Formats: sequence, C-alpha cells, structure tokens
Amino acid sequence: MYCSRLLVLQELLTEDQIERLDKYFAELIGSACDNITVSKVARAIGVSHDVASKSLTKCLKEGLLSVSYGIRCPECNMLIKRVSSPIEIPEGIFECYGCNEEIEVTPKDIEILYSLIDNRIFINGQQVEISPPARAVVHEDSMESVFLAGGVNEYLFQLSDEQYQHLLDMYIKVENHKGTTKSIGDTLEELTGKLFNMCSAFRASGIRTSINQIDCCVRNKWYLNFGIFNILGSHFYIECKNEAKTPSGTYLSKLHSIISVANAGGKGECIKFGIIISKKEGPSTFKQLAISYYLIHGIVIISICGKELKELFKTRGNLLELIERKAAEIMMDATTDLKADGLYKI
Ligand SMILES: [Zn+2]
Repeated sequence: MYCSRLLVLQELLTEDQIERLDKYFAELIGSACDNITVSKVARAIGVSHDVASKSLTKCLKEGLLSVSYGIRCPECNMLIKRVSSPIEIPEGIFECYGCNEEIEVTPKDIEILYSLIDNRIFINGQQVEISPPARAVVHEDSMESVFLAGGVNEYLFQLSDEQYQHLLDMYIKVENHKGTTKSIGDTLEELTGKLFNMCSAFRASGIRTSINQIDCCVRNKWYLNFGIFNILGSHFYIECKNEAKTPSGTYLSKLHSIISVANAGGKGECIKFGIIISKKEGPSTFKQLAISYYLIHGIVIISICGKELKELFKTRGNLLELIERKAAEIMMDATTDLKADGLYKI
C-alpha cells in the first residue's frame, strides 16, 4: 500500500521501489523534508541516479514536491544561497561572504533540492536527519549531472492543465481575430510572450533596437551546454506574423538580417537562434533558406505555425521538445548532399 498519487511512477519504478519511496517520504521530518536529493532517493530505494532523477521530476509534475536550488561556493563549499527559481541564480563573478574569494558559480556548484509539499499523505513515520556541515555538492545532485542524465526538457517545461487550457483559449482568440484592431490577448505576440515565460529557463519580452522592433526577445538564463539550450545560446529572437495568409518567404531573410546586425555582421556571436511564429504555415522556402543560413553563418532559424501551437496545447506537449525537433530538422538536413540541393557550388 502506498499513496495513490505515486501511481504516476509505475512506468519508472517497480511496486516494491514505489513502496520504499512512499516510506522514505513518509519518514522525513524537519529540514529533511526540504533537502531531498537525487542521490538520497537513489540510495533509499535502490535505483540508479538517472531513474531517481526522472522519478523526482515526475513527483514534481504531480505536485508532490517543489524544487529549489542550493548554491555552494566552489572554494569553501559553504551554502551561499537557496533560491526557488533558476532566474535568481547569481551570475558573473562575485565575492563569497564566507571565504571572501572571488567566485563564479557553474552548474557543478548548484544542487537541486526537492521539498515535500505535504508528507501527511504518506504512511506515518519519523526520521531525523542531521544536516551535515559544509560540504561540496554531491556530484550526482548537481544541476549539471541531473540535466546531463536527460529529461532536461521535461524538467524545465512543466505546465499545469490550467496553463495549457489558458494557452489554448488564448490561441483560439488569436485564430479568430480578424481585422486590424488588436485587443488584449488576441495577438500572437502576447501569446508567444506568455508561452515562453512559462518555461522556467526563459524570460521573454518585446524589445526595440535603434533600427528594429523585435516582437519577442528571449533570454535563456541557463546558458548551459545541454541539449537544446546549447543551440539556443544566451538570447534569441522571435518574430510573430499575425496575418491570415501564408507568410512571405522574406520574413525569414529579414529575421536573419536582424540577427546578423546583432552579431556585427559575423564578427560577434550575440544571437545564434531565431523563431518565426505565424498563424499560417510558412512557405517551403523557409526551410531552404534556414538551411543555407545555418550552413553559412551557423544561425538556426525555425518556424512554428498556428496549427502546431494548437496541437502543442491540446496534447499537453513540450515546447522545448518541439523546438529541439525543429532545430534538428534544419541542422540535420544540412548534413545531406547540399551540392545536389543547389545550395553550394563547391
Ligand atoms: Zn566561499
């Protein structure tokens, strides 16, 4: 017998392991409830770190756990800060108030800590954990290891049913909008901003440069070398096209040139990713152009249309997975015979 909400773990764990997890959660008291880590769970229930990590992500989604990030000084190992969102992780070089060294935290120094939201739902028990003194982040519990083990997309993009429904309702307003008057909630720009801000690794906002208006500039706070985040870079641009007809192929060239300007004509690497979001599906030239821009400049531009957004919201899909697939389509096509495609003469 175990808490019925742990049934979601059946595809990852055996009945026996779920029972052990139930018991483990039930027995936590005091600060131990807020310091659950991948390695502790792996040890407690006898599974690999990868399985433990995926199980915890599932529990997070199920609302049984919440997550926070413990930041340790790489020099003195002191816990400097505990933050609830990745956005709050300090950036750049700063002084550790423990050892006064100039430090810069990396994903190796950040520990992913899970907290039980309510352990009364598990079978009763008691277990006291004596908090260990200053120590280094256990390798398996660092953000880096947890994300490298996989499941980073599921971890960073988790929406509730209400959030998906809200996005779908918003999309339907956008779809049905006719004419030129824009009212609140019925433009792709607003929907896009909302959608990207729902991913905990992003901050999105429209910006204006001295020559252009960027519908949505997304900051990728976790400029990490894993999966899709490596392709996205630190910032990327999104252009939204509200028109009810097939968008013009020139939109892709325009976004590419805006990115090129930001990159000082190839001298810099400020932006390496762009997205065009349009109500109607883009023309086939979008993909051909995107492949050639990728080959020449290393910039990836993908396009997402209304139908795909609707599908994403309806099927409770993962935005990061969609972006990753679209980016791979551009980059992998680029490895086929490009001469035959007429993109290259040599
Ligand atoms: Zn220190």
